[in-house]
This record gives sequence, structure tokens and C-alpha cells, in this order.
Amino acid sequence: MTMTYSFENTAGFADAADKADPLAQYRSRFLIPQHEGKDCIYFTGNSLGLQPRSAKGYIEEELKKWHELGVDGHFHAARRPWYHYHKYSKESLARIVGAAQSEVVAMNNLTSNLHLMMVSFYRPSATRFKIIVEANAFPSDRFALASQVKFHGHDPESAIVTLKPREGEYTLRTEDIISTIEAQGEELALVMMGGVQYYTGQFFNLKAITEAAHCAGAFAGFDLAHAVGNVPLQLHDDGVDFAVWCSYKYLNSGPGGVSGIFVHEKHGQDDDIPRFAGWWGHDEQERFQMKAGFRPMPGADGWQVSNGNVLSAAAHLAALELFDEVGMTELRKKSLQLTAYLEYLLRSIGAPASDLEIITPSSPEERGCQLSLFVNRDGQRIFENISKAGVVADWREPNAIRVAPVPLYNSFKDVYIFVKIIKDSLSLQS
Ligand SMILES: *Cc1c(COP(=O)(O)O)cnc(C)c1O
Repeated sequence: MTMTYSFENTAGFADAADKADPLAQYRSRFLIPQHEGKDCIYFTGNSLGLQPRSAKGYIEEELKKWHELGVDGHFHAARRPWYHYHKYSKESLARIVGAAQSEVVAMNNLTSNLHLMMVSFYRPSATRFKIIVEANAFPSDRFALASQVKFHGHDPESAIVTLKPREGEYTLRTEDIISTIEAQGEELALVMMGGVQYYTGQFFNLKAITEAAHCAGAFAGFDLAHAVGNVPLQLHDDGVDFAVWCSYKYLNSGPGGVSGIFVHEKHGQDDDIPRFAGWWGHDEQERFQMKAGFRPMPGADGWQVSNGNVLSAAAHLAALELFDEVGMTELRKKSLQLTAYLEYLLRSIGAPASDLEIITPSSPEERGCQLSLFVNRDGQRIFENISKAGVVADWREPNAIRVAPVPLYNSFKDVYIFVKIIKDSLSLQS
């Protein structure tokens, strides 16, 4: 979908865009941190999404159940008994990632889930043992991959093949990802990449990557930490084998909140696929009979290990309710416009690349809401300026600022003010 917008670089235009925004009302459904008595300009929803006002009520409801029912909260609560708690988020999650409800489940945290998925989907042989990942993947993912490789007696140096941008470029070309997959051929066991790259903001072509992996006889899995709730996903139709994500970034479900997994239906029905098992993955009809012999639940549920963290899952439900109301289509529509506005304003500063560069792809299909900027001269001081002015953004040494205007709670005015501060800071430079 390519849209052309007619933007203007004025406060009046930003105000009018907010007035015309059908999602503008959702900002008031969140609690926004304050800076000198005013809402701060919160652009770090890619790191920790804001608290939905409804989260407290959802958590208090579970605290009350715990108080009044004790252990009976598991089965005898009038609403949302804990035993089934992992089921209450399925419908929303399935919609958000483009899956059947049986293919998704909320559980654990992201890196733990990545390990559990790799137990099932990284089973190297002496000849097929390689993993492809982007070179600057999130450190936790790199640690997980390397430790899995070592666990199987292989050497990460030779087993992990990294994807690097071409000389002079910041992001990866799909054709290069695919030719790397083809080049590994029969040695390739797994392609495991971000969905949206956490640093550059690049949204990869999941379908093309998955198809290429399958052609090579390998599995394809994705870390959707920066993709879920940010970009449209069709995991089932794209044929993705597995995916993991966290809920505290764009899904606004609270610090360390419950994570999620996707396992494609074609694997979810396979009882013989190796996995690390626990009682919550066992057939729920006889889970409490405490019998020997593991019989996995069909679908993603069969990868659950422990009973769920209900307090965290309660906040998750509160947050998902907002996604149900808005829907990913409307959310993406505003997101495309909001990020295009940010890009337009940044470009209209007219700064040379030696001062300011946008490294995120300019094609909307290749990015989510985040733009990653290189502030090549005096970056640290510029970042301090914007922080002092009440903008919460993310600084990465030596020169990167990541900015994520989130369509659920950020406004066109937020974007306008942010760019004005950047512009003023740049012109103050020596
Ligand atoms: C945020 C993030 C994580 C965090 O992992 P946790 O296990 O939730 O602490 C992992 N990978 C990526 C790509 C991330 O962006």
C-alpha cells in the first residue's frame, strides 16, 4: 500500500491532523508520564509501551479473587477462572499476528520462549547445522542462538551465518537475504531473524524469507518483539514455522509482561516433535490427575511449561482489549501516516547527511512506526536537548536516536514538536 499525503510543516497542520484522526481519542485511554506538569512526548513505545488506564482494574480483579477465593480462583471464579487464563488472550493475539487461535499462546518471556522453540526447530545434524540471523540482531537473541549451537556440540563461529548490509547501506536487501539462504543450501537448519529489526526499524519480508528457507529444507522462525502490534502480520498464511514476541513493547502490557509464541498448525499437531515439556503443556483433561506419560495439548498450547503468571496476563488482557477495539488495519493506517509525517518533517529540516540521516527504509512496506536516526555531529548534546524538552526517545552509542511514534497514543503534534526541537538543536551547533 503506497499512500501520498499532503503534509505541511506548521503547528496548525499538526493540530488539524489530530482533530481529523479517528484514533485520537485512544490517547486518553493511556497514562502518560509527565514532564514539568505536562504530558511528555513519549517515543519509546518500542521499548516499553504505556500503561492502559484499564490495566489497574484488570489486575485488581485478580487480586480480589485471590483474596476472596484463594486456591478456588483456579476453577470456581465467576469470571475468568485462572485455570484457563492463557485462553483469554488467544482470540486477540491470533488476530494481531494473523494466525488460528490454536497456533498462539501467551506464556513465559521472550528469550525463554526462543529457547523452547529452538529445542523443537533447531535440531542440527553433522551436515545440516547452520543458522542465518541478521548481523546486528538483539543481543539476547544472539546469546540464545550461540548457546543453542554450543549445546548441540557445534561451533557458533562456523554455524551462525550473519546477514550484513551492503557496503554503504544500513539495511538488508531481501534479494541478499534470499541469496544467502540459497548459498547455505543443505547446510542450513534454521533462519531466525527479527520481524522488524530493533535497531534499524526495517520490516523484513517474512513470506519471501520463509519460502526461501523452506526451499533450502530449513525452518523459518521470527522474533517479533518489534513487529507485534506494530505492523500487519500473516504468520499462518506466510507459512512461518514459529515465532516469539514480548508484550511490553507495542502491546503495552507492562514491564516484563507475559510473552507469546506462534507454532504453525502443521507442527502443532505433531506429538513426536521434540520439546521440553511441563505440566501446562499436557492434555488439560487429565492435567490434575498427576499421571505419568506426557500427552501434549494440540497446537501452541502443547509448548506451555508452567502455569501462567495471572497478574501479568491480566494487564495483557486490558491492553489487548484496545487492539480489539481499534483493529490492526486502522492502527496501521494511522501509523503509516504518522511516521510519514515524521519523515517529511525531518527531511524538510534540510540537514546534510553529515548532520542527520534516517537509516530506516523510506518505503512504508519495509518499516513499522519507528525511525532510526543517525545524528552524526554532536549527537549526545542533541539527545540531551530533546530529553530536557520532555521528549522520551532512545539513545544508542555512538550516534543513534530511535523514535517510535505509536499510533495508539502519539499525536501529530508530538511529532511536530519533536522535529522542531531537533531542528533548533541542529542550528545551535557550533
Ligand atoms: C526486547 C527484545 C527482547 C527481550 O527479551 P526478553 O526475553 O523479553 O527480556 C529480545 N529480542 C528482541 C529482538 C527484542 O527487541
